[in-house]
Amino acid sequence: MVEQVEGTRTHCPYCSLQCGMQLHRRGRETTVAAWEEFPTNQGAMCRKGWTSTALLRDRERITTPLVRDPATGTFRAAEWDEALDLVASRLADLQRRHGHDAVAVFGGGGLTNEKAYSLGKFARVALRTSQVDYNGRWCMSSAASAGTRAFGLDRGLPFPLRDIEHTDVLVLVGSNLAETMPPAARHLDALRRNGGKVVVVDPRRTATADRADVVLQPVPGTDLALARGVLHAVVAGGWVDQAYVDARTTGFEQVRRDVATAWPELTERVTGVAADDVRALARMLGEAENVIVLTARGAEQHAQGSDTVLAWVNVALALGQCGKLLSGYGCLTGQGNGQGGREHGQKADQLPGYRSIEDPAAREHVAGVWGVDPAGLPGRGRSAYELLDAIGADGGPKGLLVFGSNIVVSAPNAHHVSGRLDALELLVVADFVMSETAARADVVLPVTQWAEETGTMTNLEGRVILRRRAVSPPQGVRSDLEVLAGLAGRLGAPAGFDTDPERVFDELRRASAGGPADYAGISYARITDEHGVFWPCPADDHPGTERMFLDRFAHPDGRARFHAVSHRGPAEQPCGDYPLYLTTGRVLAQYQSGAQTRRIRELGDEGAFVELHPMVAARVGVGDGEEVRVRTRRGTMRAPARVSTTIRPDTVFVPFHWVGANQLTNDALDPASRMPEFKVCAAAVEAASDGPVGGVADADASTGAADGLPTIRPRSARPPARPATAAPSASPLATSASAVDAAVTSPCAADADATPGGVDG
Ligand code: SF4
Repeated sequence: MVEQVEGTRTHCPYCSLQCGMQLHRRGRETTVAAWEEFPTNQGAMCRKGWTSTALLRDRERITTPLVRDPATGTFRAAEWDEALDLVASRLADLQRRHGHDAVAVFGGGGLTNEKAYSLGKFARVALRTSQVDYNGRWCMSSAASAGTRAFGLDRGLPFPLRDIEHTDVLVLVGSNLAETMPPAARHLDALRRNGGKVVVVDPRRTATADRADVVLQPVPGTDLALARGVLHAVVAGGWVDQAYVDARTTGFEQVRRDVATAWPELTERVTGVAADDVRALARMLGEAENVIVLTARGAEQHAQGSDTVLAWVNVALALGQCGKLLSGYGCLTGQGNGQGGREHGQKADQLPGYRSIEDPAAREHVAGVWGVDPAGLPGRGRSAYELLDAIGADGGPKGLLVFGSNIVVSAPNAHHVSGRLDALELLVVADFVMSETAARADVVLPVTQWAEETGTMTNLEGRVILRRRAVSPPQGVRSDLEVLAGLAGRLGAPAGFDTDPERVFDELRRASAGGPADYAGISYARITDEHGVFWPCPADDHPGTERMFLDRFAHPDGRARFHAVSHRGPAEQPCGDYPLYLTTGRVLAQYQSGAQTRRIRELGDEGAFVELHPMVAARVGVGDGEEVRVRTRRGTMRAPARVSTTIRPDTVFVPFHWVGANQLTNDALDPASRMPEFKVCAAAVEAASDGPVGGVADADASTGAADGLPTIRPRSARPPARPATAAPSASPLATSASAVDAAVTSPCAADADATPGGVDG
């Protein structure tokens, strides 16, 4: 039974659009209504937003701490004090035996700014561990790394979303905007009504492509090569804005020389995009007054993701578009707080305000706000995947705290990661439902969600918005801030941990003051009065920064940087054993790991599927709806075939909202951002008419709920051996059936670990 506040203005619990909505009480139900005045979505929402209040009455909600009985492997209910005492004493014991870094913390891009800030502070001050990172590393890090290198500062969109309605050409690289954030797709329609053109670059012909004037379907993993080819044609066509390049950038001459050999015919051989189409796109961009290039996960979730973004930034810079009204480069953030979540200290290399943890001045400032000695703050830790790869291993963390992340579904090479989780001495998960990750924990701490708590988020535009508490949480749950404060007190932390969101935000403002992401002038009152405030906003009387870089970029000399980048190709290429490309993505009705949306009956849990071209279906011998098995070097999954001509005949697609897809994906990492290569690997598909697969996907999809308490499998104490990944090879693939045949008969690449070393997230 929930108590309500009438007509609360708040925001959707899911994606980075953070649609404004109003929550109303209707009898015992909480219902969603439009909030027309909120500028980003103007009352529009997708079905996920309209059905989001079903989360508040979910029967699978956890309402008491759960502690695993080591003798039986099952959970028992516990009092909060008992659970927090147990966790704190186990953490202290691990650190006493193995050092501070024996405990790791893993956060999420859906956490509010206040939670992300407190989590980073908790790791550095209460645990004094360097081992903290978050799942946003797998969402935004390639674009963030590239934006920082090119412009001196990363903010996903440096302009409000509505600007795209008034540009001349919009290029979407690797974005299925129409399905991932449907209200934003209205801007595409408005742009076309205004006479503008939409270009979609995606290996699949998606719902977004249906709204486009030009659709290019490159081979997965070749967006970088396409950008180089386009820039070559821009140079050849004489469309470089030399006055802009001279006045506002550095590094162009090297890039001009570098793309001299990226002629369109070579681009066609690598990408499968016709040379004439490459030239036509260059002409369209070159002749336009205003161009916006937006990338999303399709371009970024690669082992060359940050270089891919830089290649498209190079195109926009050469055309003189960045830092110009109604023009430029931007990234479409994915997770609800994908932007704010990467600014306030839950990243391995970062302190609040987007400060580097290795900058002595930054350490001194933040330590001053926290009231601790800067010398006591740990340094940079492992990136998200490297952290999970190390847990439970010799020299790696022995205990892990997880907040706001369902690692078992969302991590790449997820079967391997599940094994690492099982090798831990202590796994603690704070969540509000029994996710697949919580089901493997030693202790589960039930926390508040979304409409039950107040906190700020930063949407894809860099607009800081306020989610308001609209209902009371169920008896027995606590907020993440209360959990962190409870543990910090038991661990004897030298700094205080507030549990009031507004007071935490005020502390965050002080910690971010003077940093790249400066929130000092943003307050709950201003957010309410102004429908959100754009950062940077360094003072109470500062208006906030709706459009960035109009006068200068954020590098010390005020200039943007070109970067010469090479196409290396995916870490795995198709071969005889794995003749196809596998790519992954989203569907309209689900969000991220599905821990929330799969529980909402109104959204209809259709389950995973395997999208494949009719030529592949014919070769495999399956029809639409028949079961197929997908294999990669890391795992196997089984799902119904969805036969479609909208996908390339050398590629299969699997949505990642269910257990399975990420047991197939490759954990090769981008050398700069440490982004795993979610979007492409080599795969085989076969008919699954020969009975149960018994693969890892089937084995892991076994959690359920009964009588209010979940049924849990005992955790295995034995981690599986880590499978090897494949070395890069160089053969591009065209789109014909003969190319598929050729790939089938080509030798398989030798197994090797393609993951480069070092951390530069
Ligand atoms: S999921 Fe995204 S697009 Fe849909 S209502 Fe929520 S914020 Fe808006």
